[in-house]
Amino acid sequence: MIPISRTALDAQLSARLALLTSRLASAGGDTVAARSAWQSARPERGRLRNQLNEMAPGNRRCMYCGDSLGTDIDHFQPIAKNAARTFDWLNHLLACSHCNSNEKRDQFPSDSEGNPLLIDPTRDDPDQHLFLLLSSGEYRALSPMGTASIKVYGLNRTDLVTGRSTAFHARKLTICGAQSLLRRGRPDDAAVGLRALVQEPYASVLHGMLRLLDSPDVVDILGEDVVAALTDPDILSMLRPLIERGDSLATGNSAPPASSPSTVPAD
Ligand SMILES: [Zn+2]
Repeated sequence: MIPISRTALDAQLSARLALLTSRLASAGGDTVAARSAWQSARPERGRLRNQLNEMAPGNRRCMYCGDSLGTDIDHFQPIAKNAARTFDWLNHLLACSHCNSNEKRDQFPSDSEGNPLLIDPTRDDPDQHLFLLLSSGEYRALSPMGTASIKVYGLNRTDLVTGRSTAFHARKLTICGAQSLLRRGRPDDAAVGLRALVQEPYASVLHGMLRLLDSPDVVDILGEDVVAALTDPDILSMLRPLIERGDSLATGNSAPPASSPSTVPAD
């Protein structure tokens, strides 16, 4: 998971969602009525999906797993738990059908004070709660919210772990290749390679690599050639506009969060 910036809805759609919320409340607002109203709101769902597509990492990837195409508008707080938030824009995320229907479903764990224990990547910083071990592709939890999110979203399921590990090795080759193209006077080709890189699934892998630049273990994990490429000002200046989504960590210049381990956990 990576941080995602939520964009504002236009006034017309926002007003429409407020009206639908009001109508739902007037009708009693139970789960069955809410699901029916949601299914009936086809035009609104289409516009919401378009906006979520624009916010999603890579090429419309699921905001939870980062792998599969985001096909569903997920209610972060499920309709079954709070029907009043059915049309709440702040409760909508883009998910793949597997994460939505086979992993998360209607689960919504909370702590003893009633606060959600799941990471909403548009509100919470996933890096405060999760650490990605790049070579193995596994997530380690840094907090109870991280533990619950790994479990409920199925973030360490086998296909995702394998996919992230494979992506890590491919990213290293692409980044070194882009630097090589730059040195040979082919900046346009380097830019094409980096653009393709940012569109690929598993945005968390590149995000994790950039975050590692602040770690004392960076050379051990990425290798000298990859570190040299990733800290090349020309590569960074090409990558930055491609991955900036309000994510300051994408620059590779930010300090790790206070709750992160001072050194990288053992892989
Ligand atoms: Zn997914």
